[in-house]
Amino acid sequence: MNEKSYRFAPLGDASKKVVLLSFDDGPKEKEMLTSMLDTLDKHSAKAIFFVNGYRAKENPELLKLIQERGQTIGNHSWDHVELRKKSKAEVQKQLGDVQDIVEKETGERPLFFRPPFGAGGDVGKQVAKDEGMLYMTWSNGSLDWDLKATKKDSQLVIKQVMDQLHPGANILMHELQWTADGLDSLLTKLSEKGYGFIDPATIEIKS
Ligand SMILES: [Zn+2]
Repeated sequence: MNEKSYRFAPLGDASKKVVLLSFDDGPKEKEMLTSMLDTLDKHSAKAIFFVNGYRAKENPELLKLIQERGQTIGNHSWDHVELRKKSKAEVQKQLGDVQDIVEKETGERPLFFRPPFGAGGDVGKQVAKDEGMLYMTWSNGSLDWDLKATKKDSQLVIKQVMDQLHPGANILMHELQWTADGLDSLLTKLSEKGYGFIDPATIEIKS
């Protein structure tokens, strides 16, 4: 993986048409999550669900659901705070508590970390490394979170992703209803363009 842009360049063929799908800020709601999991299955696609600890605590059974459906859980900090403004001890707690709750519910500690706002700072990078996680931001922001840009409109979210599409794209989306509603159409469009979906289980963790 290219550290600078967080693009994924498969060994031997850097132009290979693949993308990594990711969904941040859950787990929120069973119905919406299940619809996303069903759509991923329909397309034989894998994704990372970057969860927040405070939401996981509210919905611990959804962690198990993500795992049981063969998808990957990532760490997105406990409180969705800007980590680069925090002390090392606070960052360790923000990341460590998520590792602990995911392990408690699923038996596995996450291997991927994405800092809220893409802003982990040097401390966030170091603590993620200490926890044995691969730190990543994204290279294709769907803007599904930006109500001015995409207006809760699935078609505008899809347009953003397709406009920013490149081989090895790390696509940032969220557990949001309009994203869930457009996911089937988005994955169909990506497949039609010849893109495959990276299985996070095949990503090498170098720490
Ligand atoms: Zn987030």
